[in-house]
Amino acid sequence: MNLEPPQLALLVILGLAVGSFLNVCVHRIPLGQSLSHPGSRCPSCGYALRWFDNVPVVSYALLGGKCRQCRVPISIRYPAIEVATMGLFVLHGVVFGWTPLLVPRLVFACAMGVLFAVDLEHHLLPDVITLPGIVLGLVASAVLPPGLVDALIGTVVGGGVLWLVGEAYYRYTGHEGMGGGDVKMLAMVGAFLGWKLVLVTLVLSSLSGSLIGLLVITAKRGGMKYALPYGTFLALGALAASLAGGPILDWYLSFY
Ligand SMILES: [Zn+2]
Repeated sequence: MNLEPPQLALLVILGLAVGSFLNVCVHRIPLGQSLSHPGSRCPSCGYALRWFDNVPVVSYALLGGKCRQCRVPISIRYPAIEVATMGLFVLHGVVFGWTPLLVPRLVFACAMGVLFAVDLEHHLLPDVITLPGIVLGLVASAVLPPGLVDALIGTVVGGGVLWLVGEAYYRYTGHEGMGGGDVKMLAMVGAFLGWKLVLVTLVLSSLSGSLIGLLVITAKRGGMKYALPYGTFLALGALAASLAGGPILDWYLSFY
C-alpha cells in the first residue's frame, strides 16, 4: 500500500504526539487519576513540565534523559513508548493505506498498547478502556469492516469463550484463573475486528502465552505460575490479528 510523503510525515508526528499522551494514560489510569489535570510533573522534585520539556523524544534527548531542575534521570520508558507508538502508526499506514479503516484500527492499536503496558505493570485491564472500547468498536464496525453483525458475533464469542474458560478453570481448581478484565478485553477485540479475527487473536495469544510460559518454567524449573499476565499476550495477538489477520486466515485455510 502506498503512502504519500506528507501522509507518512503526518503519521510520524501524530504517532509521537499520541505516544506522549499514551504515556500519561499508562501512568495515570491504573491510579484512577485524571488524564488532563494536573499537568506532568517530575516525580522526584515536583517540577512542572513546560511545553518545551514535553516535546516527544526531542526534549528527552536535549535534557540528556534528566529532569531540567533536579537532574534526576527520567525513565527511558517515556521516549520508548513514544517511538513504539510512532512505529505502530507508520506500520498501520503501510498496511491499511490512507483509508477510513485506518482511523478505528489506530484507535484500537492505542488501546491495545495501553492495556499491554498496564497489564504488564499492574496485572490490571481497566474497565475505563475496555467498556468504552466495546461500544466504540461496535459503532466503527457499523459503518466500516467487518460490519455490525460480524462485530456483534465477535463481541459475544470473544467475551463468551474466555468467560467459559474462566468458569471451567474456577470450577476445576477453585482458583480464579481468568480475570473479568480478559473477558471484556476480548469482547472489545471482537467488536473492532469481528468474530474471525477474534479467533485468530485467541489462537495467537494462547500459543505465544504457552510458549513463553514453557520457556519461563524450563528456565526457572519452578511451578506453573509465571509472571506475564494473559492480557499482554491478548494485546499482542490482537495487534497481529488486526494487522495481518487476513493473510494468516488465508494461510491457515489453504490447508483445507
Ligand atoms: Zn526533578
